Amino acid sequence: MNNTHINKSFDKINLDWELIQSELKLKLGIEVYESWIKKIDLLEEFNNYILLTVPTRFIRDWITSRYLDQILQTIKKHKKQIVRIEFKIIEKKNDNRENLNDLNQINKTQNISFIKDSHLQYSRIDPNKRFENFLIGSSNKIAYEASLKVSENISHYNPLYIYGGVGLGKTHLLNSIGHEMSKDKKVMFISAERFMYQFVKSIKSNDMVKFKEYFRNTDVLLIDDIQFMNGKEAMQEEFFHTFNALLDKESQIIVSADRPPNKLSRIQERIKSRFSGGLVVDIQKPEYDLRRKIINHKINELTTLHTDKLNISDEIQDFIGNKITTNVRELVGAINRVVSFSRIYNKLPSLSETKIILKDLLNLAENNVTIDSIQTIVCKFFKISKNEMLSSRRSRYLVRPRQTAIYLTKILTTKSLPEIGREFSNRDHTTIIHSVKTIEKLKEKNPDMNDNINKLKNIILYNKEG
Ligand code: ADP
Ligand code: MG
Repeated sequence: MNNTHINKSFDKINLDWELIQSELKLKLGIEVYESWIKKIDLLEEFNNYILLTVPTRFIRDWITSRYLDQILQTIKKHKKQIVRIEFKIIEKKNDNRENLNDLNQINKTQNISFIKDSHLQYSRIDPNKRFENFLIGSSNKIAYEASLKVSENISHYNPLYIYGGVGLGKTHLLNSIGHEMSKDKKVMFISAERFMYQFVKSIKSNDMVKFKEYFRNTDVLLIDDIQFMNGKEAMQEEFFHTFNALLDKESQIIVSADRPPNKLSRIQERIKSRFSGGLVVDIQKPEYDLRRKIINHKINELTTLHTDKLNISDEIQDFIGNKITTNVRELVGAINRVVSFSRIYNKLPSLSETKIILKDLLNLAENNVTIDSIQTIVCKFFKISKNEMLSSRRSRYLVRPRQTAIYLTKILTTKSLPEIGREFSNRDHTTIIHSVKTIEKLKEKNPDMNDNINKLKNIILYNKEG
């Protein structure tokens, strides 16, 4: 692989950020969009993560705690391999107070060092990912214990190599180690992608000496996602020497990857064999008990931030624990959505609402939910023809089904009001709003109506009658 290729993969921007923002506007509503989403810019796009900018730390924290999951989902629709979002704070002038806060914050991260010129704010260790809030089950116990031992300096596993699929907690563990060890040691935490980036940059600016010094001068080197290290020979050469130099002076090295050392492609054999020379541990998919533990913990964590306690039912917790099995990240994302729903609508979601909120995570046939299928199903249910539904006739026996179809389209698809209007014979969007409101009111007053809506939802979403 040559130099220009490496650079390209870092500089190229192919996500259409405006499009993503407008999708988020639809998804999260105009208010959220105006207050938060609009303020985000796309700075850089990497292989598996993107770097966004926001004007203040407050905005970053707010967005991270509430919308990050949805933002990531939306981005993933356009670029599957993005697994992480990082923020850089680029302050607007005159915003001195925030500025000071940020500096204080950075100073607090004591011994953690950064490469000059790197994006200070986001490559720092995340203080929220610590051993104390890493939940343990049989699937991750070994990795957890090895990490803990390494951080207490009572093991001589060197390097420690942690591997496992996406969203299983590798970065969390690396952070925890970094956090712990930075109390009395010089710690360097970097993703393999960034390592390559810095490497190429140093070559270009004739700064190799500094680069070497920089890396060889640390007590603890944590490298995340080593599978992305696929640089050209010179870089691997440098990495290999850095690695050896650090081991020689008994610096601790911790590496994470999505696969075991021998499965790494594009990495020199001798580096792989170095990786295998220490302790290699894996993290498996979370088992049911761990999933329940995480759900519980996350709900508590999210609700202690607020005064009102959320009693998300066992039924729903069970449902999520049973259905979302792939990784912890999705599990946490699911809880976030359920909690956001409760906050926005001021009520706990029912099981069928939960299914809707999580439909993409649940891998349901969401793509089958089209306006056309909703119209067909509703017409069949009320025994009217599609022509009648789409006509302008206002007989009562047509109005309700029409409004019901409009209502279901609004809640089961991401279509905007004007789009829905168009699909219902070019009705005005105010008619659409009126229909939605009418059905919402009727649902509350009239149990039969509510019942019909639920039946229809089940048919539309799951092809299930009754
Ligand atoms: P990976 O690096 O393996 O892709 P992360 O470490 O980024 O995964 O984990 C994804 C999300 O899940 C993070 O928010 C992390 O804090 C959380 N997480 C993962 N494992 C656990 C765990 N055992 N306990 C608590 N949170 C976890
Ligand atoms: Mg990670």
